[in-house]
Amino acid sequence: MSRKPIIAGNWKMNLLKAQAKDLLEGIKDYVKDYKAPELPTIIIAPTFTSLSAVESVKCDCGCGGNKISVACQNCHWENSGAYTGEISVEMAKDAGCDYVIIGHSERRQYFSETDEMINKKAKAILAGGLLPIICCGETLEQREAGVTDEHIATQIRAALKDISSEDVAKSVIAYEPIWAIGTGKTCDSIEANRVISMIRNVVKDVAGSKASEEIRILYGGSVKPSTIEEQMNQSDIDGALVGGASLKADSFNEIIANTMKTMKQLV
Ligand code: PEP
Repeated sequence: MSRKPIIAGNWKMNLLKAQAKDLLEGIKDYVKDYKAPELPTIIIAPTFTSLSAVESVKCDCGCGGNKISVACQNCHWENSGAYTGEISVEMAKDAGCDYVIIGHSERRQYFSETDEMINKKAKAILAGGLLPIICCGETLEQREAGVTDEHIATQIRAALKDISSEDVAKSVIAYEPIWAIGTGKTCDSIEANRVISMIRNVVKDVAGSKASEEIRILYGGSVKPSTIEEQMNQSDIDGALVGGASLKADSFNEIIANTMKTMKQLV
């Protein structure tokens, strides 16, 4: 089966509202010449404060569809209450989000997010009608110690615990080796593909073959216009979660363009 690729831009703690709007305009200007089915699923993940600035994301070409979806970079699993600094899934939805990134290594490292919290968030996101982008990945020490697969399998099993096969199938996973994030060092495509197919096998074990064939699993870690084609040509890599290169319309659009080349090759 063919899975529609995803190119997702994680803007992290960058861009003021006017800058976010400019970047969105730059992406819209590029995608306007294509029909939605020709494009990968394009997702932008601004800061909470810029979500209102990207409201104009709705497609205005008359096709009635959306060429660009919005994600937020975190949410809480409770619906409301005394959780200072947090937002709920309902609030994310109300602000126009379709996806929520959870378990990013920066949140695990700096905000002590645990696998258990990530599982609670994934369940709340799916129950609220949005889709989680669940991040996983190993440190350099773990890779050098030879425990990459074991560590990632543990993260994925914990994140997907007690989630139905139908919901797992709709979810997105991003494999992001921590040593490759923001460092300019990309993981070799063949190795990234090997880890991603291992993740797909874990999904098969947890949620069955249909979910493992349908779930989209992305690679993230210093993705650039020059790396994406080779990454997309791998059997199990369904797209990319892009940090630094998503902050400029030129490089993000080039990543989309190079992804489309690989989509055409599949036809
Ligand atoms: C990320 O933050 O998810 C990421 C992959 O960043 P970068 O592309 O800058 O390595």
